[in-house]
Amino acid sequence: MRPTPPIELTGSAPRWGDGVAVTSELLDQLRAIAPVDDAEDVTADASRDWWPLAMHWALAGQVPSRAAAVVRPTSTEQVGAVLRACRGAAVPVTPAGGRSAVTGAAAPAFGGVVLDLTGLDRIGDVDTVSGIVEAGAGVFGPDLESTLAGYGLSVGHFPQSLELATVGGWVACRGSGQYSTRYGKIEDLVVGLEVVLADGTVVRTGGAPAAATGPDLTQLFCGSEGTLGVVTTVWLRAHPVPVAERRAAYSFASFADGVEACRVILRNGATPAVLRLYDEVESMGSGRGGDGSSCTLLVLDEGDPRIVDATMDVVADACRLGAPASAALVDAWLEHRNDTSALQALTRKGYVVDTMEIAAPWSRLDALFRDVRAALSAVPHARAATCHLSHSYTDGACLYFTFAALPPADLVESTYVAMWDAGQRAVLAGGGNLSHHHGVGINRARFAAEALGEGLTVLAAVKAALDPAGILNPGKLGLASPFGASPWP
Ligand SMILES: Cc1cc2nc3c(=O)[nH]c(=O)nc-3n(C[C@H](O)[C@H](O)[C@H](O)COP(=O)(O)OP(=O)(O)OC[C@H]3O[C@@H](n4cnc5c(N)ncnc54)[C@H](O)[C@@H]3O)c2cc1C
Repeated sequence: MRPTPPIELTGSAPRWGDGVAVTSELLDQLRAIAPVDDAEDVTADASRDWWPLAMHWALAGQVPSRAAAVVRPTSTEQVGAVLRACRGAAVPVTPAGGRSAVTGAAAPAFGGVVLDLTGLDRIGDVDTVSGIVEAGAGVFGPDLESTLAGYGLSVGHFPQSLELATVGGWVACRGSGQYSTRYGKIEDLVVGLEVVLADGTVVRTGGAPAAATGPDLTQLFCGSEGTLGVVTTVWLRAHPVPVAERRAAYSFASFADGVEACRVILRNGATPAVLRLYDEVESMGSGRGGDGSSCTLLVLDEGDPRIVDATMDVVADACRLGAPASAALVDAWLEHRNDTSALQALTRKGYVVDTMEIAAPWSRLDALFRDVRAALSAVPHARAATCHLSHSYTDGACLYFTFAALPPADLVESTYVAMWDAGQRAVLAGGGNLSHHHGVGINRARFAAEALGEGLTVLAAVKAALDPAGILNPGKLGLASPFGASPWP
């Protein structure tokens, strides 16, 4: 059973007006290629993802824009034929996997067709010698991991949305798993891709552990959020299922002390799979052991016991700035790490809630931590702005901010926009980037020019070359659309 956003949709009205229609001729053409559904309740539900603002709209019976049809291909050839037909009719196509995007990326901005890729769910060849698995774009995380376990392998990509997201969606958003400090983000785990372009051309990228054959085309499609091509097959790196695991926790008097410990760990070459530092507010959360004045660091490593022991030694050394805490805190985190029920409960009570994950060099993190929380807290109706560090690299880390506000009902949307404007602009001003792993979608599109500068011009030129009719996921990533100006904000 395919998961859907947790807030029920009480109607099907398109908030942004009628999108691009699909003629009966095109519907007939599409039906000859793959299963098509154009019932209003089905297209409405297929036109939303986990964008927190749209959950408020769902409770009011609205979706951002309603697709005219959902098409469900089961092969690369069918994907190519659907794209050729839609291109011929100048109809927008929004590729969709699990629709767990939190940015509106998987919600059509201009109606048209939603291309549901969850039927591409075949797990193909597993090369056990090299540790490479071939997975259809529509494979969900638990199915991938359980199949690989039969070969003694694991990809180790465990986003909080493991049950909700597909392999294609991971790649399209440059996602990150909770064990990424050891295994890397998804773009580090991809060996190669099969991608269908807007004109139906099928491209194979990568395929070797390294190459000097011009720019890396695999990376061009990683993070393209369905705007440059449709990913149909992904080859991923897999490692042996770990035989050893160790857990530890530490308490620090300040977030800055904890960040310094993480920096020293990474600078010394240790890469514990999990390294999560919570601010003083999040450290008071259930099972995190904080008293409101301390910051908790959770550490977990796995793999060859000799490497795990060495890693945990480096960690212990770097954490002398703090005090050891009970490793049971890691057990509690593992038990509750994918529970998102608070988001639903707060949304139903009228709270504006969202998360903003960014990356920055170590030298900028402490100022960003303070400035971004302060900027978020200064927005009228703000109730909370907290932070944790969730993924570390030799040169910096990801800070993950969570914010909440409780505005009057008629100010929900304007407060949401104000929180993002305040938070994201403080990040960019402080040397952080636009996103570490959630992506851009619709929500962050207005910041793309500011964040990418002339890089956005280059991206637009690539888009124009690969998709001159602009049918692929228009309205996303800050790219111009032939179907009109961005309908939001
Ligand atoms: C509770 C929760 C927790 C989350 N935790 C994490 C986390 O820990 N780490 C993380 O990285 N993300 C997280 N996310 C965000 C989300 O799960 C990821 O962005 C995920 O990678 C999206 O995958 P999906 O299959 O749901 O893609 P969708 O939401 O369906 O699509 C996302 C984007 O990718 C495009 N797309 C999807 N499939 C394809 C394809 N085959 N070809 C081309 N384009 C495609 C869509 O057009 C859209 O632009 C979380 C989301 C939720 C709701």
